[in-house]
Amino acid sequence: MKVLIVQPIHESGINLLKSAGFEVVYASSSDPKVVAKEIKGIDGVIVRAAPFTSEIIEQADALKVISRHGVGVDNIDIESASKKGILVLNTPGVNDVSVAEHTIAIILALSKRIKDIDNAVRVGNFNIREEYSIIDIDGKTLGIIGFGRIGSLVAKKCKNAFNMRILVYDPYVDKERVKEVDGELVDLETLLRESDFVTIHAPLNDETRGLIGERELRMMKSSAFIINMARGPIWDENAVARALSEGWIRGAGTDVFEEEPPDKDNPLLKLNNIILSPHMAALTKECVIRMAVGSAQGVIDVLTGKKPKSIVNYSLLEKYRKI
Ligand code: NAD
Repeated sequence: MKVLIVQPIHESGINLLKSAGFEVVYASSSDPKVVAKEIKGIDGVIVRAAPFTSEIIEQADALKVISRHGVGVDNIDIESASKKGILVLNTPGVNDVSVAEHTIAIILALSKRIKDIDNAVRVGNFNIREEYSIIDIDGKTLGIIGFGRIGSLVAKKCKNAFNMRILVYDPYVDKERVKEVDGELVDLETLLRESDFVTIHAPLNDETRGLIGERELRMMKSSAFIINMARGPIWDENAVARALSEGWIRGAGTDVFEEEPPDKDNPLLKLNNIILSPHMAALTKECVIRMAVGSAQGVIDVLTGKKPKSIVNYSLLEKYRKI
């Protein structure tokens, strides 16, 4: 049986597939038009962040499983896959630590102005130290949008390491879970008005697309920071750029963009008070191995008739009576 790798993954995943007896083939490009041509005769695919569209799924004639290397499945047309009875899997729990650490790195870099002060010393501006512009995070309020695996880990680490006050907005968790990290479950407006740092860890879906726009950013303190570790379209990039350039908020950080890679005219690229990273929070040396092995194991499980660990489209498969 053949497994198609749409974008490169760590060799540990490839070796696992080969040692289970599968033939591994590589897409010549992640462009859906190209993948649609190369999907014929393929039994399983491993997908990273590239779009896996209905155009591809329509052309699939042997596909049984789409295994997402990572968590967010917004790039996969799950409805089309489910109609054809194709299982969609992901690898939850393998990247929580890496993304939580990246979030905290950004929180610290923003509050201590690491990028600015390093640059200042290099250009002879030692006097930047007299601006008294860096802050402590001890005791500050951290607002977490999306209290799942990553959001709750960020909360736990920031509570334990930095004694931060934790506010949570998540319509699908109960307050008892939030209490475990000594946090408070609040509405979005309270979170935005009271937080010194807001960090986004919700999935991208119809409900969260555009969740943070001008109205929400204007609710935030002018001294506050906002961080997006989830998906670009959850916030309105143009509104964030205006908030940063017009001083509605102090700073921001993001690992994700509405379009990836961002266009060179993206307004966020022109601002100094935002820290940018190229969707790599989960790409630590350790995590790429966990994701490669996890996604490969999912393909092996399905193609050898075992129950995979994490099926994303279980209820849709039931709806279409495909399971
Ligand atoms: P998760 O499913 O464990 O948690 C998501 C949480 O968001 C859940 O608690 C859910 O109830 C909550 N949520 C759903 N709708 C919401 C809404 N409208 N408002 C607020 N909260 C809402 O997922 P996770 O593993 O914690 O990952 C979260 C997201 O982070 C993923 O969906 C993915 O898009 C993103 N992610 C990014 C990277 C990266 O490299 N930057 C890596 C991994 C995950």
